[in-house]
Amino acid sequence: MLTLDFHPTGRHFLSIPGPSPVPDRILRAMSLPTIDHRGPEFAVLGKRVLSGIQQVFRTRQPVVIYPGSGTGAWEAALCNVLSPGDAVLMYETGQFAALWHKMAVRLGLKTEVLGLPGAENWRRGVQADLIEKRLRADTQHEIKAVCVVHNETSTGVTSDIQAVRRAIDACKHPALLLVDTISGLGSAEYQHDAWGVDVSISGSQKGLMLPPGLGFNALSARAIEASKTARMPKAYWAWDEMVEMNKTGYFPTTPNTNLLYGLAEACDMLLQQDGGLDAVWARHQRWAEGVRTAVRAWGLEIQCADPAVYSPVLTGVVTPEGVDADKVRQVIWERFDLSLGTGLGKVKGRMFRIGHLGDCNDLTLMAALSGSEMGLKLAGVKLASSGVQAAMEYFAGHPATAVLKKAA
Ligand SMILES: *Cc1c(COP(=O)(O)O)cnc(C)c1O
Repeated sequence: MLTLDFHPTGRHFLSIPGPSPVPDRILRAMSLPTIDHRGPEFAVLGKRVLSGIQQVFRTRQPVVIYPGSGTGAWEAALCNVLSPGDAVLMYETGQFAALWHKMAVRLGLKTEVLGLPGAENWRRGVQADLIEKRLRADTQHEIKAVCVVHNETSTGVTSDIQAVRRAIDACKHPALLLVDTISGLGSAEYQHDAWGVDVSISGSQKGLMLPPGLGFNALSARAIEASKTARMPKAYWAWDEMVEMNKTGYFPTTPNTNLLYGLAEACDMLLQQDGGLDAVWARHQRWAEGVRTAVRAWGLEIQCADPAVYSPVLTGVVTPEGVDADKVRQVIWERFDLSLGTGLGKVKGRMFRIGHLGDCNDLTLMAALSGSEMGLKLAGVKLASSGVQAAMEYFAGHPATAVLKKAA
């Protein structure tokens, strides 16, 4: 029997960095009856979501929408542009980068992983100079793809994708650039075309504010060209039939119609507000700074050690030596009906994660911080001062309108 200290009334506070809270507007859009995916109405929906998601990726090139999770979209990216035994250069920023690497190994690719030595690696973004150095040494152009994670959800560190593009271009290396922006898209700045990305990978349940269940690949002309000769086995994930049929607004197999209703709504929410996507990116930066202000006031460490690449999507909070971060999370969940992200992989038990992605506002973040502060104290953590007080002052003193004006 579940013995809870609270009456689970009101709303659960879902403050994990994905799945993120789904706005009522999207839930309502998804509640419409499922329609015939071969019928005349469907093409209208299909064209609407395909155009909307292109704008969210900031691309004019095709975006493939799969019924699947982000992991499926990772696999789709790899198997559409590569051949068995191809060399791929990856960079370990955290657990998600490590899992993508594990997948590449399972698929039979010849992988090489770059990174900084020791624990530092999970506290900083991709060091583009290491990529450049490695590519320069590859005079035979054996490396076919460079794979990096844009927003490392396990640590709260973003990476400078433009710097990676410049590194590849600086040595005139033909490797394709594959980027996981599963948790970045829709919250952190991302520009598929302008940044010269060949395949961008995303999922529905993070910045796009949807339930889990959709995976995305945004393509480039070079990626499409590579897919014509790539020999990795693929059928369900193959881009060719999908891209061809999408031109008419239809899909080769049954799409998740109701998630697409939600996606159409999400694209409208992201694109049709004052300031558009620029305003979305700016407000996440502001929320992130508010949350970090609280962590600093507590006297706790932020997992990301480089302020230049703090994540606007989530903040990793390191608990003091000897304090199990998962115990803190458990107290917070049991007492205050608030879910925080667990530490993943080698930082399990050492940190927890506060999400500020998707559909937040100042007060949902204040709730997450209040729950965290109460839970930290209940777990016996000595805090330097009140993070809640500090965050309130930050949010009150930095009106969102000022931030949005700057973005416009
Ligand atoms: C969530 C996430 C994934 C995994 O996506 P699933 O939808 O769980 O398969 C991969 N990479 C990053 C950066 C993520 O945030």
